[in-house]
Amino acid sequence: MNEQNILNTASGGYPESLIDILKKLTMMDGVSGDEKPVRDFIIERIKDRVDSWYVDNMGNLITFKKGTGLNRKVMLAAHMDEVGLLITGINDNGLLKFKAVGGIDTRVLVGKRVRIGKDGVPGVIGYKPIHLQDSTERQSTVKKSGLTIDIGAKDRDQAEQSVSVGDTAAFDYDPVEFGDHKVMAKALDDRVGCVILTELLKSRYSFDLYGCFTVQEEIGLKGAKAASYAVVPDVAIILEGTTCYDLTGTSEHMMSTRLGDGPSLTVMDRSVISDRDLLKHITRTADKLGIPWQVKRTISGGTDAGRIQVSGKGVRVCPIAVPCRYIHTPVSVMDKRDFFHTLKLAEGTLAELADWLTGDGDTDVKDSARGTAHTTGLDQNQFWEGKSDV
Ligand SMILES: [Zn+2]
Repeated sequence: MNEQNILNTASGGYPESLIDILKKLTMMDGVSGDEKPVRDFIIERIKDRVDSWYVDNMGNLITFKKGTGLNRKVMLAAHMDEVGLLITGINDNGLLKFKAVGGIDTRVLVGKRVRIGKDGVPGVIGYKPIHLQDSTERQSTVKKSGLTIDIGAKDRDQAEQSVSVGDTAAFDYDPVEFGDHKVMAKALDDRVGCVILTELLKSRYSFDLYGCFTVQEEIGLKGAKAASYAVVPDVAIILEGTTCYDLTGTSEHMMSTRLGDGPSLTVMDRSVISDRDLLKHITRTADKLGIPWQVKRTISGGTDAGRIQVSGKGVRVCPIAVPCRYIHTPVSVMDKRDFFHTLKLAEGTLAELADWLTGDGDTDVKDSARGTAHTTGLDQNQFWEGKSDV
């Protein structure tokens, strides 16, 4: 099979234009707590695909598609926010002080272009030239507190005309397609999930479907908490971009995922242990459809799954993710085949989820009756309200 055929198989008939949508979405800025541009773009794409949608008090975009009969609620979640910076001060010389929003390696910041606020004021994070550093400085790690953003202003007054304390700053890098089916862009985490979720909203299922585009994931999985309390789902699938470290010199077990090896499935991370039966349903779907998949080998990091799982009466959750090298930098890299395979796997999983939910599916564990009270002559609501003497 030649290279092009491999990509065609992976895309399974999906248009390459989806990659253009993804690229556009990575050019929108949505630093945690400031996700409006991303949300507005997504609303335009999904408003005709769903029965209803609303933006909640936190800023989550919650969409609804009525099911055709099965009394179960399925939540899909992808976060709209990205890591970035928050302007915390303006020096007399016009340079901007900042704090990181989300997890960013300080070493990544030096020499990077950023754009600030809704007008996208251009700036650069400068540092002392190597010529002027003494040997100790050359050896030591750069501290965030020693960095500033230069917007070219001559002094504080001039800087204050274009930026304000409290503005957010995002990396200013356009996406690039390159190499062997690769895309390089900022914010692939989690615009990949956002694009996949918008595609999944095209179909209607027997269960009620809630597509949730969440806010503030990068600073503690916050939006998902409010969204899942509103939805109270039975099952949730979290669509993500995840760490990938498969470079030379890394031992196998430290490679969280490998680029090109297919969607990443999480058994456990710092936020969640996935539902084993749901995970099995997903891997069986992948095998049936001939989609490659990989288990994430490291347990660091967390996703919205961690918050959603413990909401309401408990939720059966599993993340499906696109591996992204250099995640949380301006130049994260994904393989287009992984992206299309993740979409295809999520679609396949949903297509057979009703059977799985009702115990008719090809599964070893027929415990789909979870959440139903096994008491004779007692209705479930009475059970939960504690009105029984069982
Ligand atoms: Zn993420």
